[in-house]
Amino acid sequence: ELVNLNEMFNYVLDRFDMVIKDSEKNYVIKREFTQRAIWVDIDTDRMIQVLDNILNNAMKYSPDGGTITCRLLETHKNVVLSISDEGLGIPKQNLGRVFDRFFRVDKARSRAMGGSGLGLAISKESILAHGGNIWAESEENKGSTFFISLPYEPYEEDLWE
Ligand code: ATP
Ligand code: MG
Repeated sequence: ELVNLNEMFNYVLDRFDMVIKDSEKNYVIKREFTQRAIWVDIDTDRMIQVLDNILNNAMKYSPDGGTITCRLLETHKNVVLSISDEGLGIPKQNLGRVFDRFFRVDKARSRAMGGSGLGLAISKESILAHGGNIWAESEENKGSTFFISLPYEPYEEDLWE
């Protein structure tokens, strides 16, 4: 279905802001994107599930009080969402593997945090099914950024603005 990605991202982030407030955690979610509508043809439920997992990871793997920065960038063929945290980071040699089923960087630590190690594998499957791509950049002890690109063609209406 045709969805305003901007509105969907805001909706997901509003919910996280409420969860953070209710849990008395102190994460800060920053939104660095234009409020212009970006219409994309996506499966809303699956996309929300992907964003939920990446945002949950951003909190799970970073200390309380960290800033999570969310961006939305348009190029002429794609729209790219990114979510950056100020957490533990991921060792370079594991960057590709975090999207594998059941792969977890630190088995003991991850087990203590709960979850199954499937979140990113499922996310990748969903994004590929949308004709998009998902990848990560990271620096240990500094933080990680997860990127999602989706095919996007500006509609004629947008071009007339
Ligand atoms: P699940 O999502 O199934 O509850 P999970 O969070 O462990 O469990 P994934 O979301 O697939 O599984 O992530 C896989 C692994 O990648 C994590 O266990 C963690 O080691 C690493 N990882 C994911 N996101 C981050 C992040 N933002 N910072 C540091 N490490 C991360
Ligand atoms: Mg996860």
